[in-house]
Amino acid sequence: MKHVLILDLDNTIYPVSSIAGKLFGELFKLIDEHLLPADNEAVEKAKDELTRRPYQHVADEFGFSEELKEKGMQLLNNITFDEPMQPYAAYDDLRAITVDKYLVTTGFTKLQMSKVKMLGIEADFKGIYIVDPERSSQTKKDIFQQIMTDNGYTAEDALVIGDDPKSEIKAAVELGIDTFLFDPHDKHGDATVTYRSADYQDVIRIVTEG
Ligand SMILES: [Mg+2]
Repeated sequence: MKHVLILDLDNTIYPVSSIAGKLFGELFKLIDEHLLPADNEAVEKAKDELTRRPYQHVADEFGFSEELKEKGMQLLNNITFDEPMQPYAAYDDLRAITVDKYLVTTGFTKLQMSKVKMLGIEADFKGIYIVDPERSSQTKKDIFQQIMTDNGYTAEDALVIGDDPKSEIKAAVELGIDTFLFDPHDKHGDATVTYRSADYQDVIRIVTEG
């Protein structure tokens, strides 16, 4: 029996690909203006990574110039997404589960909050936490620990649900919390997880069993 679900947002509740064109258009334009076309393959790879990972990490990994880093950060710090968004159809199954739920997502505060609003999911959660490296050095692991401590949950009470083995899944493993990897495209076959599925119906079973 699980008493609390901790969810990631991007690619866990909705597909980033559904908003990437509109959301990243301006940023990709900026990148095109600053990176050399000779690096075309790296540029495309960096853009693809940006749809999934924090800008700061990708910028460092792909050696963005200080100027590009700064301009990109400025843009992202202030951007919001203000068009209708749709959760995955499978999200309805999570929504129907009545245990306590928390949303913990990494990204720019304004942007992440605008997505929560456009998805209409605010009321689904007892708490919503944005891990924003621009504002705080707190990590997802810190927030998970805080949620557990503040509410008296044990590690056994909780299930962390996300799409990224290097982010929320890793943090949960380090805290001894069971993990549910949402992997609809079988991208992470080698990741160490407690549960792996393309279907949130399985969460209903996990929450109620044993
Ligand atoms: Mg994610």
